[in-house]
Amino acid sequence: MSKKLQPADNIQDLQYFGEFGGVNPSITDSSTFTFLKAGKMEEIFEHEIEGCYLYSRHWNPMNKYLSQALAQLEGTESASVTGSGMAAITNVILQLCNAGDEVVSSRTIYGGTYAFFKNFLPKFNITTNFVDTTNMELVKKAITPNTKIIYCETMSNPMLEISNIAALSKLAKEHNCKLVVDNTFSPMIFSPSEMGADIVVHSMTKFINGMSDCVAGCICGTKEFIDSLSDVNNGASMLLGPVLDSFRSAGILKNLRTLHIRMKQHSANALHIASKLDQNGFKITYPGLANHPQHELMKTMYNEEFGFGGLFVIDMITKERANVLMEEMQNNNVGYLAVSLGSYKTLFSAPGGSTSSEIPEEERKQIGLTEGLVRVSIGLDNNPERTYQVIKQCLDKVS
Ligand code: PLP
Repeated sequence: MSKKLQPADNIQDLQYFGEFGGVNPSITDSSTFTFLKAGKMEEIFEHEIEGCYLYSRHWNPMNKYLSQALAQLEGTESASVTGSGMAAITNVILQLCNAGDEVVSSRTIYGGTYAFFKNFLPKFNITTNFVDTTNMELVKKAITPNTKIIYCETMSNPMLEISNIAALSKLAKEHNCKLVVDNTFSPMIFSPSEMGADIVVHSMTKFINGMSDCVAGCICGTKEFIDSLSDVNNGASMLLGPVLDSFRSAGILKNLRTLHIRMKQHSANALHIASKLDQNGFKITYPGLANHPQHELMKTMYNEEFGFGGLFVIDMITKERANVLMEEMQNNNVGYLAVSLGSYKTLFSAPGGSTSSEIPEEERKQIGLTEGLVRVSIGLDNNPERTYQVIKQCLDKVS
């Protein structure tokens, strides 16, 4: 029997030393690297040589360390880092697709990704078929001989739908396409590559870094695919240049060391608060609740010790009530009225008018993404009962 991926242990076991025996690796403070022999420079233009660096947009030591740690997180052969989550997504798609190709994408995805598929890719004659990826029959129907990619989020933004990665992977393999999965909402909780995803991307801006102090992304996959991204002649990452600064990379690597503890706390807090709000009759969407449509599916897929995730959604029915709730919660220091998620501090926003506003209103209605929804990303609060009580008071005021 194959050993289950242990992402937290794998990261813990990594040892990187800095100059003079520093317990953290030294930060690369150089855009370019010297060569003792001219011939070596020519060689590295042709193919990567272990331990040799050419130019920081291509690779640098700090980004290499962080990438290796991310490959351990996702259980992939290799990984690379980018200057944002959008850079990770767009580089993967542009690397895999040629003009005339098609993408089959989940209809509930981050608004920026949706806009890239719907509005930007047609410039290159790449089209996207948006479907309900929880329904395998619909996914199958949407696949054509031109389909290159099936795309989904493991836990979707903002509806918190759970994708059946094993079933989607089976379909992708049958139709000779790649399954690309955005695992931003659920690092450690889900190991998509173990369930058959070909490529896993993250916005590291969120849980992986966890401090709301930088924007970054990563791509995890086979060595062959990751190498292709940095090919000097036709690699999307080399040519589009979304390089992550090595100072940021160093910070993210240190924060990654505590990701397992943070994910457990985010999930325990969210479960406590979401359950109590649900028991009090509020309309809550949270994958840890028995009434969530994919609750049972999630239980068959997740790495249980990391829980059901740190986000839940409250349906306030109208935009006005959603706005009053968010202002009340900010005024009572539950957290901040801000986009983004996965931070040490609770963050909340109304996705209908912000992070999902790129999705046309008619389509938002179809997926239940109404204007009254408030997405809450619960922080690392020490006492979730205290936080629940404050949120409850805010909700009572709105009513
Ligand atoms: N993927 C998901 C699921 C997101 O929520 C976001 C941003 O909110 C992104 C990707 C884009 O990441 P970034 O803002 O780091 O470019």
